[in-house]
Amino acid sequence: MSQTQNSDGYAALRIQLAEHFPADALAQIDKAYAMAADAHKGQMRLSGEPYVTHPVCVAEILLGIGMDAPSIIAALLHDTVEDTRVTLEDVKNEFGEEVMNLVDGVTKLGKIPLVSREEQQAENLRKMLIAMAQDIRVIIIKLADRLHNMRTLIYKKPQRRRDIALETLEIYAPIAHRLGIRHIKEELEDLSISFLDPVAYQEIENKLSEQSPRRNEFLHDIKSHIAERVQQETPNAHVDGRIKSVHGIYRKMYMRGKNFDEIYDIYAVRIIVDTVVECYNCLGLIHDMYRPLPGRFKDYISTPKPNMYQSLHTTVIGSEGIPFEVQIRTWSMHQMAEYGIAAHWKYKLGMSDAKMEDHLSWVRQLLDSQKDADNPEDLVLTIKTDLVPEEVYVFTPKGDVINLPMGATVIDFAYAIHSAVGNRMQGAKVDGRIVPIDYKVRNGEIVDIITSSNPNKGPSRDWLKIVRTSGARNKIRVWFKKERREENITEGRAEVEREFRRSFIRLNEEDMERFLQTLAERQHLDSVDDFYAAIGYGGLSLSRMMPHIRDEYNKLIRAATPEETPVLTPPKRSKSNEGVVVEGIDNCLIKFSRCCNPLPGDQIIGFITRGHGVSIHKRDCTNVPKDIATCEEPDRWLNAYWDKVVHDNFKSTLLVTCINRVGMIADVSVQFANMHVMIHDINTRTTKDGRTAIAVTITVNSIEHLKSVIAKIEKVNGVLNVERTGM
Ligand code: MN
Repeated sequence: MSQTQNSDGYAALRIQLAEHFPADALAQIDKAYAMAADAHKGQMRLSGEPYVTHPVCVAEILLGIGMDAPSIIAALLHDTVEDTRVTLEDVKNEFGEEVMNLVDGVTKLGKIPLVSREEQQAENLRKMLIAMAQDIRVIIIKLADRLHNMRTLIYKKPQRRRDIALETLEIYAPIAHRLGIRHIKEELEDLSISFLDPVAYQEIENKLSEQSPRRNEFLHDIKSHIAERVQQETPNAHVDGRIKSVHGIYRKMYMRGKNFDEIYDIYAVRIIVDTVVECYNCLGLIHDMYRPLPGRFKDYISTPKPNMYQSLHTTVIGSEGIPFEVQIRTWSMHQMAEYGIAAHWKYKLGMSDAKMEDHLSWVRQLLDSQKDADNPEDLVLTIKTDLVPEEVYVFTPKGDVINLPMGATVIDFAYAIHSAVGNRMQGAKVDGRIVPIDYKVRNGEIVDIITSSNPNKGPSRDWLKIVRTSGARNKIRVWFKKERREENITEGRAEVEREFRRSFIRLNEEDMERFLQTLAERQHLDSVDDFYAAIGYGGLSLSRMMPHIRDEYNKLIRAATPEETPVLTPPKRSKSNEGVVVEGIDNCLIKFSRCCNPLPGDQIIGFITRGHGVSIHKRDCTNVPKDIATCEEPDRWLNAYWDKVVHDNFKSTLLVTCINRVGMIADVSVQFANMHVMIHDINTRTTKDGRTAIAVTITVNSIEHLKSVIAKIEKVNGVLNVERTGM
């Protein structure tokens, strides 16, 4: 071993190597290092370090996952044949055929630079599959090589970083996943995200470290609680816990549209025992201690995952109603879960060649199925689908990748790019072909959204039923709330007319237009319509402006006498698009009052608010006067009734009173979830007499729907009473 170069990390690695390998293997490894150091002499990495630091680091990663001596030797030599005067023949002479084949395999994998993305990926993938089919260690060395390149990616140019990070996320991480090498998979994913979406990555990291004391405390509590109980019956049981990877959280946040604070199953508690029987015993204990979430139990022991992963999974609800996952497995299953196929070398798991062959048969099947395909790009598609079945990667025409959950449509894609793209979407092309609007995107497709040139074009209500992601659904809802300019204008105009009538502000059409224009400009608005819209939406409060407007009007009157008074249109009944008919008001902005949340079927009444349109109350709401005729402002109350056809959803608040027991709140929320009822808000408190009161605001579509929800909640064990609030 060269004593002159100890800045390249080999000296430190050498200490670890000595713990793992016998003297003869060590001598071979030293020889390989010397050959690599000599061959790469004078070459530098972009980081400014001697090139040989790279193969040394790759060897170190492989040692970390327990690979054998030939893999370590091949790792040290993996770039020599490609980049230096060392030939395959030299490698064969010095280290034999096995190492030569490994080096050759890795060299062939890395030869072609990225040019045309799709074709290139297809070609690279095919090579990897062939290499895997020949000797799986080639691909493991390649993964380690990619991991070190990702760790040092910062030295590359930004565009190149993105390309490499994307390829890593799409191809290398899924392969690591397929081979079950969790350590490499998670680091590859996290590094990719840190380059592809640095802002989000940083945000997640910050939040994780911000909340880490609280999270660690929670984890610590459940861990010790579980350990105490489990170890009574299984003294050897090992209990630990962890928080999911940044990429795992990123996926939940950006693909499922969840807030950081909404992601609770970022906790996983692991119980490792000696035998399979103990696994099932522990599962029983856990379900006895905590209430399991229905439908979340998975037995990967009797049905292992394709990547050989075995465990029992269950999600239970801990204290404060926080769910967490529990994984139960034996030690050998654990080794497989952490190192996947690499466990074969690390733990000498007694995997016979035949069994190994069995585990890799999918590679051969894939290759066979692709032999006759004309289009190499089909391979990329097949692989991506096969590797990561629960999500799809699609591309913008510029080549940016958009991750979506399986089943997402072109509308989800449009909103994933930007809400402005979604709101103006008119149609979509997939790989150049026009597709229907409910088309479900598939891996590898290039999606081009056709947008309308009309900036006011909005989404269609039907889209809410088509979209798969909550992100798109929320954005569509926001649009309907905020962007209904026409309705806002109509409502604003109606309110201005009403207030002007009440204040006896009368001008002829031309003067009125000019007067309103002045008022608009004073509010820094361009047009009278903008002025109406601002009032209709509630951005401007007309009642607050009225004293000033009256002053302005009086000034104007003093200057000129109006020639005619405007003709007042008689009130007429008309339909509003919220499913409510308000007598005497034309197409106004309707709001359902929060105090009583009226539902179709309820008797209702309208109230003209200041600046927020007409709010609809239940007739028997406490905020509605018993006798309208004798109340303070009788003319602000208007008769209203439900339109015959109601499509919309409505909010309703329920007060659930129940006994105070562990898991009570979770049981109630689970029941809502089982009925697919959306919860907007949930508040709990303990009442004076020691009961738990849960106030929950949900979405229902009619009074009948609400009644059936109440009936179901009443049946939850421990629930004493359910009533609708705001009566
Ligand atoms: Mn390399």
